[in-house]
Amino acid sequence: MNECFKQALPVLKEIEAHGFEAYFVGGCVRDYYLGRTINDIDIAVSATPEEIKGIFKQTVDIGIEHGTVLVLHKHGQFEVTTFRTEGTYSDNRRPDDVQFVRSLEEDLKRRDFTMNAMALSTSFELTDLFDGRKDLLNREIRTVGCPEERFSEDALRMLRAVRFVSQLDFSIEKNTYDAIKRFASRLSHVAVERMTAEFEKLLHGPAMDRALTYTVDTGIAEWLPELITDSVVSEVKGKNWRILKAEERMLLLILTGQYQDIKAVLRPWRMSNKTIMNMVLLAGLVGTRKKRLFTKADLYYVGLEPIISAEKTAAVLENRHYDEKKIKELYNSMIIKSRTDLVFKGTHLIKWTGRSGGPWVKDCTAAIEKLILDEKLNNHLSDIRDWVETEWLQK
Ligand code: ATP
Ligand code: MG
Repeated sequence: MNECFKQALPVLKEIEAHGFEAYFVGGCVRDYYLGRTINDIDIAVSATPEEIKGIFKQTVDIGIEHGTVLVLHKHGQFEVTTFRTEGTYSDNRRPDDVQFVRSLEEDLKRRDFTMNAMALSTSFELTDLFDGRKDLLNREIRTVGCPEERFSEDALRMLRAVRFVSQLDFSIEKNTYDAIKRFASRLSHVAVERMTAEFEKLLHGPAMDRALTYTVDTGIAEWLPELITDSVVSEVKGKNWRILKAEERMLLLILTGQYQDIKAVLRPWRMSNKTIMNMVLLAGLVGTRKKRLFTKADLYYVGLEPIISAEKTAAVLENRHYDEKKIKELYNSMIIKSRTDLVFKGTHLIKWTGRSGGPWVKDCTAAIEKLILDEKLNNHLSDIRDWVETEWLQK
């Protein structure tokens, strides 16, 4: 049995011992049959949240109104969700009328796609009411039940379909695809945060190119904040985007679209400030790399990771070969890699010069840093002191 299932099994068995049903459901069952790494385990049970809380000593209410309790157990933390049905999502974030039910079948029916609507029991028996296994074998994404109905209940499912295309390299079953084309405009009602979360997952996938093509061809792209257009997607598809990580892929889309104001592009996606500032930094670095090679000073002041991201993205944009070895060699040859590698502190400078602290400490530190980086001064206290006394003080 898969290690992830094994660790969670005592939790399911404990629930069963109290007379309830418990199953592995959703993405973990799908990924198990696909032989993919299982990220998180979802457990569905016939017990209500209150009943679950009565069984386990340590629980956390992480979404109790939707039936989810986190169980803290010897082998880890597990999300346990009561079987439920859900109606429409009139606020387009959360279903309005979650109803707890006692039947697994009802719970599986409310799930989005057949491949996500399978359950495994503690004895590893599969419940597959909608032929999810068959769709997995055919590598097809198909809604549970009528696609029009399912997309009217929650339009986000359309974007989820294309993000699964990207992640799994599947196709979308014809009726499901046609329904997306007809219902794409309903995404206008969906909360942006939910769309952004799916879009970020789409960017990770090995079939991102096809997923982006579907996003444009179905009309989904029109209802997302601006970024994905036919011309950007066509251009990106011809490039070596596969070597890029998700955030670098986003940068590639932005730079291919030649947007000048990155903040203005990303704000409507409600991305975090951290993500936005990181994109601005990386875009600036790609701009620098278009003009010149990166130096030790770039690596020192900016750090290895952003420089590698910029180097990679610039190479993909310009259809150049990306050579990670070069940057890493440059980095490894650096005597100091960040401030923490300097052997002296501001207090040393104050002691050696007999001056009181002030802005000069920062200037002097920067001057020494530069000399050490350029290998014109050793990173040793005695050498640095000599330099401060003979050069800096004489200025
Ligand atoms: P991943 O491995 O990427 O997390 P996942 O299938 O686990 O994929 P989640 O978003 O974590 O996706 O959702 C868990 C499960 O909940 C899904 O497998 C599906 O059964 C159900 N689900 C999630 N979102 C929806 C939705 N909008 N409509 C219906 N069912 C959904
Ligand atoms: Mg999941």
